[in-house]
Amino acid sequence: MNSAEIRQKFFDFFASKQHQVVPSAPLVVKDDPTLMFINSGMAPFKDYFLGNKPAPYKRIADTQKCLRVSGKHNDLEEVGYDTYHHTMFEMLGNWSFGDYFKKEALHWAWELLTEVYQLPKDRLYVSVFQGDEKDNLEKDQDAYDIWKTMIAEDRILFGSKKDNFWEMGDTGPCGPCSEIHIDLRSEEEIAQVPGKDLVNNDHPQVVEIWNNVFMEFNRLADGSLVKLPAQHVDTGMGFERLCMAIQQKRSNYDTDVFQPLIQFIAGEAGLKYGENEKADIAIRVMADHIRAIAFAITDGQLPSNNKAGYVIRRILRRAVRYGFTFLDFKKPFLYKLAEVLADQMAHVFPELKQQLSFVQRVIEEEENAFLRTLDNGLKRLDALEEKFKENNNTIDGKTAFELYDTFGFPLDLTALIAREKGLKVDEAGFSVEMEQQKNRSRNASASEQSDWVVVQPDVTTEFVGYDRDEATSHIVRYRQV
Ligand code: ATP
Ligand code: MG
Ligand code: MG
Ligand code: MG
Repeated sequence: MNSAEIRQKFFDFFASKQHQVVPSAPLVVKDDPTLMFINSGMAPFKDYFLGNKPAPYKRIADTQKCLRVSGKHNDLEEVGYDTYHHTMFEMLGNWSFGDYFKKEALHWAWELLTEVYQLPKDRLYVSVFQGDEKDNLEKDQDAYDIWKTMIAEDRILFGSKKDNFWEMGDTGPCGPCSEIHIDLRSEEEIAQVPGKDLVNNDHPQVVEIWNNVFMEFNRLADGSLVKLPAQHVDTGMGFERLCMAIQQKRSNYDTDVFQPLIQFIAGEAGLKYGENEKADIAIRVMADHIRAIAFAITDGQLPSNNKAGYVIRRILRRAVRYGFTFLDFKKPFLYKLAEVLADQMAHVFPELKQQLSFVQRVIEEEENAFLRTLDNGLKRLDALEEKFKENNNTIDGKTAFELYDTFGFPLDLTALIAREKGLKVDEAGFSVEMEQQKNRSRNASASEQSDWVVVQPDVTTEFVGYDRDEATSHIVRYRQV
């Protein structure tokens, strides 16, 4: 089954269960101060769960473009190194707004996976919420009893609040969830370590594919939980992981979702994918990041110097940097990938084709600018390498800051290069330099903006310690006062 058929079967299945199939909402969020990009299938439906707006249908299914590169869900650093976290991915979902609940949701999930997609039952595990005494929450016996009718009991695992209780935020709708995991290892590997020991343990072939959330509570500002007037279902299944499972691959990148991109990159680099780990990481990074970049620009978020635009610029520069270093791409290249992506995905996301020439122009311009700074900055780092080695294998804060300020290297880029060279970065020292510069520019009547700026919240701040800025993952120092 190819990925287009897999996606279509999901829609057809839930349409046959009276769901309205709707198109994905745009990736870019413009009217929500708490979110820059959609990071889960439920995000566009938040208002229905909160009761701010009535849901137009009681049952909905869709594929939602998601981006997990900032805030609560940030998978960026994993991407390229592991085989199943992406920056941009599709989340397949089905929803009940005050309509069906656990029984239907879990039966349908099982029917779809094991009958329509024919995934082997003896490779699946499910998890249910074990309860939480502190929060006075009972274990999810209902979900357990429903699963018991479909799957052997030793394949039903109990999980803690971390994995099996979903909350939108500090307040708002929440409830227990039930995950479905698949073990894609060989029989020999399974004989050595049982799959259930590897569930939720970062094993690349024992992965979570689907999460079924049962919203039945509302958390109030005082922390207490009350039952919602209506019960809802919110599910999210990682499309690329599902394709890996159905196509019996060991990596999302080996599916037909990524192979056209992978083959194109490898071909241009004059390499074969799968022969050299460093080159493979770079190929995966580029194949992944072009999706985040192209979808974000298509949906209205240009790379820029702050907030959401800065997040996109950082992803773009991460891709350029990997290509530059490990694949020897010294000229703009990413923009070419946008076309490969559009050809492949336009049947689901026609906007990619409609905006293609604009997207390519934006990417190429960004690439040109960054390649110039990159070359200069890397030369500077190479020239100082001996000095870092003598300095306890550490890039000092002053140099890290100089790279940031003069060469446009965000701290995470410097950290990445450092990691490859076996060096550390003095992040605290970097922050001191940053603070000093801020003081200087506060005092100056007119200040020039460098290429990279740390996003500061619009509040009065006072130095109290170090923190990470959510939008940029830079170390910043502030506390709201
Ligand atoms: P994981 O534990 O693997 O990081 P998660 O628990 O953070 O996943 P959920 O928030 O439950 O994920 O999202 C629902 C589904 O979306 C997951 O079951 C998974 O299949 C998929 N998913 C989550 N994050 C990613 C990602 N970064 N790339 C691809 N698919 C993802
Ligand atoms: Mg996660
Ligand atoms: Mg998880
Ligand atoms: Mg989950």
